Amino acid sequence: MSPQDRPRLKKKLIELRADILREGDIEIEPVRKDATEVGGDEDEQPLTEMSQVIASKRNQSRAGVLKRVQAALRRIDDEPEMFGLCAECEEPIGKRLDLLPYVELCVECQGTKDGAAKPGRRRHLTDFK
Ligand SMILES: [Zn+2]
Repeated sequence: MSPQDRPRLKKKLIELRADILREGDIEIEPVRKDATEVGGDEDEQPLTEMSQVIASKRNQSRAGVLKRVQAALRRIDDEPEMFGLCAECEEPIGKRLDLLPYVELCVECQGTKDGAAKPGRRRHLTDFK
């Protein structure tokens, strides 16, 4: 990744974070609730189990992206020279970053992870390019 890509991707990340936050209704709080804090004004019971599942799935994926965006922003500040390199194999992630600036794995490693059910898969360092 060329050095001038970094501020561009950082800007993207910041915009992405703003977008996610602007949509509101996201819970960034830790997953577990402190038992002591629950007894308050929360009126979440009326939600049916189903809509709870849907809502939490939706929130989870947005919260998940948000978390990754924030992690990426931290990486870009803390280890700028590592940003854009795959967290597994340290190969440049490349163009994928333009679409998903928060990814931390290259396509190959992501595929390996997603297809973790197939342990026989070859590692990729040599069979690529
Ligand atoms: Zn990789």
